[in-house]
Amino acid sequence: MSTPPVENVVIIGTGCAGLTAAIYTARASLNPFVLEGPLPGGQRTTTSEVENFPGFAHGVDGFQLTQQMREQATRFGTRFEQALVQSVDFTSMPRKLVTAERTILARSVIIATGASPRMTGIPGEKELYGGKGVTTCATCDGAFYRKMEVAVIGGGDSAAEEALFLTRFASKVYLVHRRDTLRASKIMADRATSHEKIACVWDSVPVEVMGVKENAVSGLKVKNVKTGAESVLPVKGIFVAIGHIPNTKPFTPALAVDEGGYFVPEAGSQVRTRVPGVYVAGDCSDHVYRQAITAAGMGCQAAIEAERWLAEHHG
Ligand code: NAP
Repeated sequence: MSTPPVENVVIIGTGCAGLTAAIYTARASLNPFVLEGPLPGGQRTTTSEVENFPGFAHGVDGFQLTQQMREQATRFGTRFEQALVQSVDFTSMPRKLVTAERTILARSVIIATGASPRMTGIPGEKELYGGKGVTTCATCDGAFYRKMEVAVIGGGDSAAEEALFLTRFASKVYLVHRRDTLRASKIMADRATSHEKIACVWDSVPVEVMGVKENAVSGLKVKNVKTGAESVLPVKGIFVAIGHIPNTKPFTPALAVDEGGYFVPEAGSQVRTRVPGVYVAGDCSDHVYRQAITAAGMGCQAAIEAERWLAEHHG
């Protein structure tokens, strides 16, 4: 069997962080090789309008934004392949990335694997996920709930954004939150709580997704944590928006992670890891800012670090 080629830089992930790293390393003539996971374009593709990415005075569609980044990376020679890294060996050089099909060799690696939606784990959620009424993406599935009542679970910016987006279609949107104030930024919280179609269900946790027998959501049982009272919201769609879990498993224990599973970069750097030539960027390591623009910024930092490291050690 012939030895596979050794890549200069392999970038894992095609969200804002990975694509920005690709643009920078491609422009630096490093001929980057990008591995694309199960959600090409990352989480931004599942949001509707992105209003806070600088340069777009009137907002930009999340899918189009990442599509543009991808085209930009391709223009400078980035190569893409669909592959899921299952494990890594960072003990020797070149670094080894193991996918289901083969082992990829790389001098430097930029991990930008993002984070996946957290689920509630309540009965019925798993059974009715995807096409049967439970989803994590209003942009993808909102239009299926025209003139129907739906529920959004969560109290952060994602929940507020999903609820507002759903008002375009649904007749009523219940926003189910376990406390009595939203965690979302003030502007989003104000918009959501003052919207005539959004009914906030405060101090309440979801208990069960109803409708498993019928194979379609018929309601959401919720419990008021202060009174203990249970009630059923008569919804046909349930949008779970309670945060994310970083996609870092295949890289542990080679790289350090915190108790939430997020990569922990070396002191004094946002992107450098304890393994020379291996960098992290975006939502897989950032649990504080988690914005498209900060992910892009980290992708840029990782690319510049990789470029300098390669020049020093493999120039
Ligand atoms: P988040 O800020 O972590 O909020 C998660 C929400 O879900 C919280 O309200 C939390 O309740 C609730 N929650 C967590 N676990 C739960 C459980 N098991 N059962 C019920 N509720 C649960 O996550 P996010 O909204 O996805 O936002 C992530 C980051 O992206 C944030 O930094 C946010 O600002 C950013 N973001 C920005 C925009 C924008 O600017 N347009 C849009 C989306 C996201 P508690 O409040 O009680 O903890």
